[in-house]
Amino acid sequence: MATATETTIAQKLEALLKLQTIDSALDNIKKVRGDLPEEVRDLEDEIMGLETRLSKFQQEIASFEEQISNYKNSKKDSDKLIVKYKEQQMNVRNNREFEAISKEIELQGLEMEIADKRIKEIDFKVLNKNDEIASVESTLFERKKDLEQKQKELEVIINESEEDEQKAMKDRDKALKLVDPRLFKSYEKLRDNARNGLAVVMVKRGACGGCFSSVPPQRQTDIKDKKKIIVCEHCGRVFAGVEDVIPPPEKEKKSRSKAAVAAPAAPAAE
Ligand SMILES: [Zn+2]
Repeated sequence: MATATETTIAQKLEALLKLQTIDSALDNIKKVRGDLPEEVRDLEDEIMGLETRLSKFQQEIASFEEQISNYKNSKKDSDKLIVKYKEQQMNVRNNREFEAISKEIELQGLEMEIADKRIKEIDFKVLNKNDEIASVESTLFERKKDLEQKQKELEVIINESEEDEQKAMKDRDKALKLVDPRLFKSYEKLRDNARNGLAVVMVKRGACGGCFSSVPPQRQTDIKDKKKIIVCEHCGRVFAGVEDVIPPPEKEKKSRSKAAVAAPAAPAAE
């Protein structure tokens, strides 16, 4: 009986750790894609904004051009009137009539001057607007280039990882079948709450592999025994086991063997 339970817990932990490994691999795939999809979206938004601005500017230019053409037409009208008035002046019967027509001519002349002034003003506005359009267009050109580049990158990354992702998903389905349903529930909860997505960890160098809090030696022994499910007192993650500290293969087992193993001299190996 006792041995049967032992095996079961060990197997449960093993299944859970396997699932964790697959899920971590899937997390990594998503992380690699992580920023790119968002960057692509941001660029698309920016380009849309720039295009809206550009079309607004172009509408403004069109309206300026319409105003200019209106002023030019009214100038032509004034011109015609002046010609007509001058003809009339040839046939006046008295000075008073001549003076009255002169005033009309003068008035039309003034109208033409005003129109010229307005046309100049609007021409200036068109010039400025065209500068703005050129600047928006060059930004737009750059952004479109960026977008194209990023879209290509994203496509490559997705293509590269798609196969891995699908394989991992299949493995996950298989691994999931071996996981105890109740343990899976807490596994999911733990993963939701954990920033690094780790719900099942090993004890590494005497510390929890999830939150790095130290795990007392007696507890480590219990974890190694795998007679029951033991969770981290600090973060609640499930301990799947205690990772063996593998000493460097060479220049070991000589005079300073014990000291070398006890001291954390291993970082070079990582
Ligand atoms: Zn912990």
